[in-house]
Amino acid sequence: MTAAASFAIGGLEVGPGTRATIDLPISRLYNHTPVTMPVQVVQGTRPGARLFVCAALHGDEINGVEIIRRLLAAPELDGLGGTLVAIPIVNVFGFLAGSRYLPDRRDLNRSFPGSPNGSLAGRLAHVFLREILDRCSHGIDLHTGAIHRANHPQIRANLDDPETLRLACAFGVDVVINAGERDGSLRQQAAMRKVPVLVYEAGEALRFEPAAIAAGVQGVLGVMRALAMLPPNGARARPPIIARSSIWVRAAIGGILRTEVPLGSHVERGQRMGVIGDPFGDNEVVVLAKTAGQVIGCTHLPVVNAGDALFHIVDTTGTKAAAVELDAADIVAPDSQDAEEIRAFEAAEHSAMYD
Ligand SMILES: [Zn+2]
Repeated sequence: MTAAASFAIGGLEVGPGTRATIDLPISRLYNHTPVTMPVQVVQGTRPGARLFVCAALHGDEINGVEIIRRLLAAPELDGLGGTLVAIPIVNVFGFLAGSRYLPDRRDLNRSFPGSPNGSLAGRLAHVFLREILDRCSHGIDLHTGAIHRANHPQIRANLDDPETLRLACAFGVDVVINAGERDGSLRQQAAMRKVPVLVYEAGEALRFEPAAIAAGVQGVLGVMRALAMLPPNGARARPPIIARSSIWVRAAIGGILRTEVPLGSHVERGQRMGVIGDPFGDNEVVVLAKTAGQVIGCTHLPVVNAGDALFHIVDTTGTKAAAVELDAADIVAPDSQDAEEIRAFEAAEHSAMYD
């Protein structure tokens, strides 16, 4: 077997079997403090995939920051092949401010490809493309729901691509959703470069949620095994639900919501999911499931306005992947009609809900 080469980033070389932290220069704060995007590169002793794992592209989505910290401490990395490029905090400005956005309210994940002379978001995007995406063969982008809005652990990816589907299943969470690429997103740029990228969505913004973090760490390690960066461990991921469509259940009236179904649970069509009422217990309206399926997103804020998204249900009818092994050919992929519907659904939803 040929020896692993060095990995070049930020004008430095990370040699085989070594690990280095690189501070990519971004800008300065108002007070002259330099701002950098810190990256840790773990270079394996044998050649292989070059996987980036990034978090906090939205600065308030911090479960992924802890996922990456644990990943970098995992003993499994001792036997690494290929290259792991870990970027725990991409949107440094948003992270410092506890905000999804850049200081000018731009969304970094709508600002790709960016340019060296563009907005701050565009400059950050440009550095990420040049120093990370252009040097990697695969990627995992870690996200959470919005503030007060939690996601059941799920993978969102372009499942029309067989390799992306294979890796999505290897991640090992029970829900995988086919999702088209948004304009200006990191995933769109990755697709143009034929770099498979998974988006992991779990938990809510500004929280550390142990289950979402643990599933994320195991998920990344599972993908690394599927990419032969780590040796197989004999475990098989359970076949996920491949989401063909999903809907939001919205508040019919404004009021105070009492939720009756937990995140991740299965509901039948017409099942009670909660009640919206006023502070006196009057004027109550029962919230019903519009379809059978799994609850993959919900609000955690009990005070709701009419029209607010309360529950996100993924249709599980006939969508259980048939595969026992992680073989893409055995997994029921959504057809183009479904992909179209999901794209239409996404376009109709508020852009702040997802990656
Ligand atoms: Zn996000």
